[in-house]
Amino acid sequence: MVAPDRGIAHVPAMSSTLTETLSEITPDAAKAELYAFAAKPVVDPRRDLVGLERSELEAVITEFGLPRFRANQLWHWIYHRGAVDFDLMTNLAKPIRALLAASFRISRPRVVSRQDSSDGTIKWLLRFDDGNEAETVFIPEDDRGTLCISSQVGCTLTCSFCHTGTQRLVRNLTAAEVVGQVLLALDELAGFPSAGVNRRLTNIVLMGMGEPLYNFENVASAMRIAMDGEGLALSRRRITLSTSGVVPMMARCGAEIGVNLAISLHGTTDEIRDELVPVNRKWPIKDLLDACRSYPGVNNARRITFEYVMLEGVNDSLEHARQLVALIKGIPAKINLIPFNPWPGSAYECSDPDHIERFAQVLMKAGYASPVRTPRGRDILAACGQLKSESHKLNRREQRAVAAE
Ligand code: SAH
Ligand code: SF4
Repeated sequence: MVAPDRGIAHVPAMSSTLTETLSEITPDAAKAELYAFAAKPVVDPRRDLVGLERSELEAVITEFGLPRFRANQLWHWIYHRGAVDFDLMTNLAKPIRALLAASFRISRPRVVSRQDSSDGTIKWLLRFDDGNEAETVFIPEDDRGTLCISSQVGCTLTCSFCHTGTQRLVRNLTAAEVVGQVLLALDELAGFPSAGVNRRLTNIVLMGMGEPLYNFENVASAMRIAMDGEGLALSRRRITLSTSGVVPMMARCGAEIGVNLAISLHGTTDEIRDELVPVNRKWPIKDLLDACRSYPGVNNARRITFEYVMLEGVNDSLEHARQLVALIKGIPAKINLIPFNPWPGSAYECSDPDHIERFAQVLMKAGYASPVRTPRGRDILAACGQLKSESHKLNRREQRAVAAE
């Protein structure tokens, strides 16, 4: 166990040093040694302050014996300035900083690796305290910077075209781990609100690993933290949650966090969608679209995005395009055509670009503007559906094999 005056508060410094060091050194043996170090599970008995919503932080701090305003100060340091070390909190007296540091920590996921794509996309493989991993991707564009975050390690759903769905071990990320991805990216981009007006990270999409509506409580807490005006201050209009169609949770999502909604539609008949997005067998297209029609806050200024992956010969005929238009008629909507991103072992081909263009023309004639999503970070396997970590639970045969080694 780590002594109370050491531990995770020092880990973020270590992880960024680790990333820098990794980019400087070349010998494989030295890299392997550092990766092995990063892989060690972290045991820190101190309570993590990251991931507590504001009212929860106030409760923890007042129960600890400090006045409520200390919680506001801590909130400012953690989310406005990105502090991970109580010692930097200069408006707290030194003995109070020491008391806090003995009982609490301000966590970050650890960076196992960082890859920079030729198009500016950055992908981090992050490791959490128990050794599980997930990926986070930053996509810079001219007018915005979008962070694509994960909600689970792996995914229990098994969409046939998605790499994440092939990963066996699945667990929900905690609220600290969900918002921790944003904090980590802001560390690396020097992008906390206190850094100034030109914020590089302006948008969040819950489109990484996992089904966010299967981990709604933690995702909702993390997003309420991200939206707080005295902290990260990311507006709900700049946050989009993508779901494969967990119908019973959609109304709560709209009512409780009110973020933009994206729906992974991908098929225009139940027969096709059952195959591509198996959760459709539970909640078929009609139920899904009814839930979209009644999504709180949806109007022409705030449209629902329908995501549609282009799979050659499967869902990409012009007839499918016409069916798509007919299906979503009356819903204030945007359509996002996603060229299929291949991954090792995937069974599909991406429709060819001219064909995608013809499909898009049908949608454009029906009034949907520029619907094709440009794939980003393909060279580092960071594009939609390519995320996957090595975290997995050994099956019995694998356990026996390891035991026999
Ligand atoms: N689980 C959620 C969010 C993560 S996936 C969901 O399914 O909506 C983000 C988007 O990428 C989804 O629309 C998903 O269907 C799509 N996607 C998955 N695999 C893909 C692939 N190989 N190529 C292109 N898009 C993919
Ligand atoms: Fe899970 Fe979304 Fe991938 Fe389907 S597309 S397996 S829901 S992450």
